[in-house]
Amino acid sequence: MNLWEQNIRKVVPYVPGEQPQQEDRIKLNTNENPYPPSPSVYQAHQSADVGSFALYPDPSAGELVKKLEGYYGLEDGQVFVGVGSDDVLSLAFLTFFNSEKPILFPDVTYSFYPVWADVYRIPYECVPLDDSFHICPEDYARPNGGVVIANPNAPTSMGLKRKEVEEIIRSNQDVIVIIDEAYIDFGGETALPLLKEYENLLVVRTYSKSRSLAGMRIGFAMGNKRLIQAMNDVKESINSYTMSQEAIRVGVAAIDDEEVFQQNLKKVIRTRERSKEELEKRGFIVFDSQTNFLFARHSQIPAEKLFDALRERRIYVRHFGSERIHNYLRITIGTDEQMDILFRALDEEIKNFY
Ligand SMILES: *Cc1c(COP(=O)(O)O)cnc(C)c1O
Repeated sequence: MNLWEQNIRKVVPYVPGEQPQQEDRIKLNTNENPYPPSPSVYQAHQSADVGSFALYPDPSAGELVKKLEGYYGLEDGQVFVGVGSDDVLSLAFLTFFNSEKPILFPDVTYSFYPVWADVYRIPYECVPLDDSFHICPEDYARPNGGVVIANPNAPTSMGLKRKEVEEIIRSNQDVIVIIDEAYIDFGGETALPLLKEYENLLVVRTYSKSRSLAGMRIGFAMGNKRLIQAMNDVKESINSYTMSQEAIRVGVAAIDDEEVFQQNLKKVIRTRERSKEELEKRGFIVFDSQTNFLFARHSQIPAEKLFDALRERRIYVRHFGSERIHNYLRITIGTDEQMDILFRALDEEIKNFY
């Protein structure tokens, strides 16, 4: 090994779901929304002033921040925006998790958490979910350097009640508790009302799933002003201009179209409930989902076998190799037509198996 190699930061990166570039693929592997963004987003995009691309954007993304503060009934200074919630979460780790004590998160959760902890050299401990894959709030009542919980959790699709989230926050008032609400618009109880009572709470959201804007990279955090100020200080020590003009404009416009937003949520939820039944008819065990995906295992057929067979048929779902969940598939809710293609493919594969 060359000496200079010793000074390279070595990390094992997060592996996102495949993004096949061919159009004939059915993508049910990264929890994107199957419906296009709202008409107001199209309008905002079309009215972009290309000449102004010569200028830097507003470093505070003030318009977008204000819009979100208004929409969620918060005060000035309670919202932080970033390049997708991955950017927001990573910055929150860097800002808030500076203790010698380990941070805590579930053993089965968003697999980016251990990656950020590693890259920032934050010690961590994984807290096992119970046998039915639920988070036990009482397990988080122990010394730690911070807590991060995805609610609803991914990839299990199940959420905690607000009371349970509150129990975790209440027993951890000396550290920051991050609640990652990437999927909250599809069901589940938000922790937002708890912001009034707990100044150590940070709620993180994204436009990528419920607002059909994964490609725009917009995420945000809500919390008390001192937390948001601390995040802004760290962000401005790294990169002043994180949000492009386009992301700011589109992010504002998306909030204006509440009706289309609600309609799309309803469609996804309806398809989710139907899909759960269809999978159960075909021998799957499926968790109750409060998200835009289903987490399921087949009673007979190994998940990896189904994953490969579906991929051959150009249907992409997600399979995680880790020990507790290697026999499960995470299936994003697509359109009804896409789901029907999936069910037909499963019918054939299941028949072939026996
Ligand atoms: C998708 C996802 C994110 C990140 O989404 P962005 O596209 O970066 O906003 C964060 N947390 C969880 C649990 C997710 O599933």
